[in-house]
Amino acid sequence: MRILLCSTYELGHPPFGLASPAATLAADGHEVFCADLAVGSLPVETIEEADLIGFYLPMHTATRLAIPLIEWVRRRNPGAHLVCYGLYAPVNEALLRRLGVQTIIGGEFEPVLRRLARGELQGPATLISHERFAFLPPDRSRLPALGRYAALASNGARKLAGYTESSRGCKHVCRHCPVVPIYGGRFRIVPVEVVLADIRAQVEAGAEHISFGDPDFFNGPAHAVRLVEALHREFPELTYDVTIKIEHLLRHADLLGLLRRTGCLFITSAAESIDDGVLARLRKGHTRADFLEAVRRVRAAGIELAPTFIPFTPWTTWEGYRELLGLIVEQDLVANVAPIQLALRLLIPNGSLLLELEEVKQFIGPFDEAGLLWPWKHPDESLDELAAELLRLIADEQRRGRSRTEIFARIWERAYGRPLAEDPKRRRQRAIPHFEEPWFCCAEPVWEPTTPV
Ligand code: SF4
Repeated sequence: MRILLCSTYELGHPPFGLASPAATLAADGHEVFCADLAVGSLPVETIEEADLIGFYLPMHTATRLAIPLIEWVRRRNPGAHLVCYGLYAPVNEALLRRLGVQTIIGGEFEPVLRRLARGELQGPATLISHERFAFLPPDRSRLPALGRYAALASNGARKLAGYTESSRGCKHVCRHCPVVPIYGGRFRIVPVEVVLADIRAQVEAGAEHISFGDPDFFNGPAHAVRLVEALHREFPELTYDVTIKIEHLLRHADLLGLLRRTGCLFITSAAESIDDGVLARLRKGHTRADFLEAVRRVRAAGIELAPTFIPFTPWTTWEGYRELLGLIVEQDLVANVAPIQLALRLLIPNGSLLLELEEVKQFIGPFDEAGLLWPWKHPDESLDELAAELLRLIADEQRRGRSRTEIFARIWERAYGRPLAEDPKRRRQRAIPHFEEPWFCCAEPVWEPTTPV
């Protein structure tokens, strides 16, 4: 069978959701093609000759970008079986069906894709799989070269960066999280030898840094320890970054030194808010005080913390937003926070557990199919205007090549109506390691059906 797998966006990383099923399907003898439209093209003949065409939908932006692509592909090859897989596929089932997608997969997509390609699945189906299967090392030979993807900027150097995942799902059930409707508090580890084989292949291709995309690297701390120890033994010069929730940073603070010694440069952590009321509604499992303690502990271990936020929620106040900016300055985190993190609005996609909150129902309007979300309005319109204005401001400043510190000063000025008195540049001269790809989670589709492919 000829199989085409497509990805539209994965934050500038080489898509795991193409490389991993490509390995599984190729091992069954299928002819597999991969198209990462974030950095590459899609030859028309490949579409027309495919029997099965898959679209990887791991996040909201990727899904929005995929919609015109699916429509276009359907017209070019009406006979192909279309399948969508990834966290955002099952929650957008109704829309995908109208676009002509026959099979929709959430969770462990590799074994389901294998059964589909073997002809063992009949009729339109939506499956959320938590089945155990033998992971294979992802096959990255069909992806564009690593140099096409976002590099890591670190200490004035530019490092080629690879990407892998050492676990799937999450054992927590935060209300705003897209992992929860699919995994429902479950997680699975990927065997260390499989992860190492994937990293080895990427190092051979030039990677000097690896980004672990696990929803939470400390869901299985013993697994994490075995992995980073083995990684550092084999690649002592390789650096890496991970994502760990605040609660786990505190519970497993004794492991932070090991992460540092084995090459961890920075830890992304979803702080989301410094308002305990908002944190409780999101069911984050941490408080403002916990966040401050995590900042202290991670810093003490010699690792940079990259906190992420959802500053605009229905419960945000002007005072609270300004307080967040003030705390970022006070904690010397200006260079640690990607500017987009200061403009994000709470996203409520289909299937979100936030919809179980009665108070959320008061804020939302009818489902917006084009936007793939439940739109909400803040009771204070000026805060919605502020969020929209900041998004434009940040995109504009990033296009001009402004630094995080410079953009923060502009955000401060807009929020406070006066310039930032203390120049954070004076406090922190060195740059924090970060990916060159800014996170445009609210990006408009860049792929147009009329684009020559
Ligand atoms: S800890 Fe992170 S990945 Fe896990 S449910 Fe919460 S937000 Fe999602």
